[in-house]
Amino acid sequence: MSKLSNDTRGTRTTAIHAGEGPDPVTGASAPNIVMSSTYVSEEAAGFSAHDLDASSPYLYSRWANPSVVSLQKKLAALEGTQACLCLASGMAAMSAIFMSLLSKGDHAIVSDVSYAGVGELVRDTLPRFGIEVSLVDMSNAYEVARAMRPNTKLIHCETPVNPILRLTDLQQICKIAKAGGAKVSCDSTFASPIGTRPAEFGVNYVMHSITKYIGGHGDAVGGAICGSTEDIAALNLEAGIHYGGVLSPFNAWLISRGVATLPLRMRAHEETALEVAGWLEDHPKVTRVIYPGLKSHPQHELAARQMDNFSGMISFQVGSEAQGEELANRMIKQLEIIHYAVSLGHHRSLIFWMATAGMMDSSFRLVGKQLESYRDYAGEGVFRLSIGLEDGVDLIRDLDAVLG
Ligand SMILES: *Cc1c(COP(=O)(O)O)cnc(C)c1O
Repeated sequence: MSKLSNDTRGTRTTAIHAGEGPDPVTGASAPNIVMSSTYVSEEAAGFSAHDLDASSPYLYSRWANPSVVSLQKKLAALEGTQACLCLASGMAAMSAIFMSLLSKGDHAIVSDVSYAGVGELVRDTLPRFGIEVSLVDMSNAYEVARAMRPNTKLIHCETPVNPILRLTDLQQICKIAKAGGAKVSCDSTFASPIGTRPAEFGVNYVMHSITKYIGGHGDAVGGAICGSTEDIAALNLEAGIHYGGVLSPFNAWLISRGVATLPLRMRAHEETALEVAGWLEDHPKVTRVIYPGLKSHPQHELAARQMDNFSGMISFQVGSEAQGEELANRMIKQLEIIHYAVSLGHHRSLIFWMATAGMMDSSFRLVGKQLESYRDYAGEGVFRLSIGLEDGVDLIRDLDAVLG
């Protein structure tokens, strides 16, 4: 076996080898899928989930499963954290964080723009459990500091934020949280661990929809939370074992296979996104392009500091809401390569129209200065384009044909 310590291995090596190795019984080089729900026990007495630790034998697959554990080790290695917990979806990971860390009477500060499902969960569900939520523009650290209260337990941010690609300065947010004794969670789905490793800035819970870049092939739904051994063990006990939304071993196996190529895929996503974003900026029908890798992004300097890879997500505008809708309808009929579909981070390019008015009604409900900041990035609506792994020239030809 290799004598290289895990600390000296490169990201590409880690993505392939962390959390797995040849099967000790058969010598199989590729990992098996362990579908077993239960494990033959060598101890007569049962024990409680409270007694579990990393050295405990496998007992039941809701508690721990070898295929899921292998993926968890891989993701922790890529994020540079001690541990990781995988759950059935990104939303299962998100609700695990909120429901496990917050109790009645606690206060949370959450980004006023986020993945829509998260936005709805914090606005509609958390208050029903007696949890106070302040929705804040996280690109403005002053507003975050102002929202802190003595009972603030958690700050939840997302960077870059869906769907407008506004960034959060993680170092600043962590400083504010630390001063106030709050924990920080970050939805890092758009950045991937190749772009940003939020734990390096002090984030306690790094969350991913592994349905997206980490899986990378659009064929398995899953979620992950990376953090310290102690924090993740507590989450596993409450959210994994008690709420029960665990990841299936088959999905873990598929997603692990995707992770092996994550560093290579992210490099290609970024390269093609830069090519397409630059082309879109020069197109006469396109009124605004938002991509963290472009100098025109309002926070390009922060992006360059916080992201090692600008990822493959582009938002662009074409003018009024009516013009956007008309183009979306043309895309549905005429796009030949890019799929008109939600989701992102797959090898196939995906595009979806998100009208500002509709997003406000269904998810974000912003007014005043917060609505102004949203419009500053999104205008009347954005096309959220997830650049896949196809040839840039083919994507450009596909977009050119519908833009006219
Ligand atoms: C998709 C997504 C989620 C939700 O993840 P699921 O796997 O669909 O449950 C959360 N946050 C972001 C940023 C996402 O893109």
